[in-house]
Amino acid sequence: MSTIVALSTPRGRGALAVIRLSGPDAIAIARRMSGVDALEPRHATLSTLRRPSDGDDLDQVLLTCFNAPHSLTGEDVVEISCHGSPAIVRSIIDTTLELGAALAGPGEFTLRALSNGKINLAQAEAIRDLIAAQTEAAVRQASRQLNGELSNALGPFKERLLEVIVLLESALEFVEEDIPAPRANEIDSDLAVVSAGVEKLARSYSAGRLLQEGVRVTITGRPNVGKSSLFNSLVERERAIVTDIPGTTRDTLTEAIDLEGIPVILTDTAGLRETTDGIETLGIERTRRAMSDSDLVLVVLDGSEGVGPYDRELIDQTESTRRLVVMNKSDLPGFNLPASCLEELRPINVSARTGEGLSTLRDAILASVSSNGVDEGGLLITNARHYDLLCSTQLALEAARAALRERHSEELVLVPLHNALKFLGQITGETTTEDILSEIFATFCIGK
Ligand code: GDP
Repeated sequence: MSTIVALSTPRGRGALAVIRLSGPDAIAIARRMSGVDALEPRHATLSTLRRPSDGDDLDQVLLTCFNAPHSLTGEDVVEISCHGSPAIVRSIIDTTLELGAALAGPGEFTLRALSNGKINLAQAEAIRDLIAAQTEAAVRQASRQLNGELSNALGPFKERLLEVIVLLESALEFVEEDIPAPRANEIDSDLAVVSAGVEKLARSYSAGRLLQEGVRVTITGRPNVGKSSLFNSLVERERAIVTDIPGTTRDTLTEAIDLEGIPVILTDTAGLRETTDGIETLGIERTRRAMSDSDLVLVVLDGSEGVGPYDRELIDQTESTRRLVVMNKSDLPGFNLPASCLEELRPINVSARTGEGLSTLRDAILASVSSNGVDEGGLLITNARHYDLLCSTQLALEAARAALRERHSEELVLVPLHNALKFLGQITGETTTEDILSEIFATFCIGK
């Protein structure tokens, strides 16, 4: 096994940078560079690192070593806290390479932790998600998974399945006839419990996905109703260009905001308007695409002008979409309370200029999203791979139940049951192939 090295903090200048070494030579390399022979485990040691080939000083650093197996990776690990200059980082890493270390690949520290049994695959993925989390709620979910909650939730399902499999396998060995009806009923009700549990967990993905990827909210409306102004007010800074020339927002603009812990990806779109301007036509095409990819559409109307044919068309077009109708410019004297035909759409009156009604709008966006159960406080599936495997597990369980009902032989019931157990094992990595592992770890950053 080689000794790997990588910068674990972000690239660029900072007060400090942390370089990590892991592997059998990690401590020997740190000793040679620091000249300190007795590096006490789990103690920070102040030392000056030198390049052994020419004796040049590299930096004054803090060294902390962790002896195998009591480390993140389960191997000998050394953390070097140096000054955060890219030149210093480069010279320290280059020196470790001269002394036999190799540059770490993406996620290689986590992969080693997995290979050495320090964590399971779901926990390794949780580390990646934790680092990528943009809001408190996303951090909470990733931490729960890192603490092993997902693996714990799957444990009883696996145990029950295994019991059923053992029972059927032994029936296969000792009995010639088919499974007796009362026994088949018992097995079926066991499988029904597991299947319902797996399905419930899989269903939480609709909320978990939103936490991981963010809720996609698109602002749409005809030109000049104040979409860009509304976008800026929600983002709380001037991002979109606001002018009174219709059609200024030619492309879509996207920003992430945090609505009480839920990440919202807000997109401002080009006005929906028939046009002969090639660029604006492209913008409108993107608008349609953004709308169809959204979890929620904000249809913005200009309340000081009343509802025109374009507005009406847009209202019709978004009828089957999850949407909120927003009446902007409530500060203008000509602002009309919604026409009676709009009342049933329960429009939200706002002024992007004065900020009036914006908190009501934020609450309405949250309410619309929360109906997905995103803030219920339970464990959520946030990872598409886990979701797919849970769905496959459930299908396999249902196939086994169907085979039982149709009084097929034990073998035909056992095949889908073994598959179900394999799928559950792939979530935590017990039955994951090398190919899948390298695909998953390719999505990690270097130094993790
Ligand atoms: P968009 O084309 O829909 O993106 O509209 P803009 O955000 O560019 O706004 C068009 C015009 O309406 C600009 O002159 C804005 O200053 C003005 N405007 C936007 N929102 C409000 C509002 O709430 N009140 C008032 N009085 N004017 C607004």
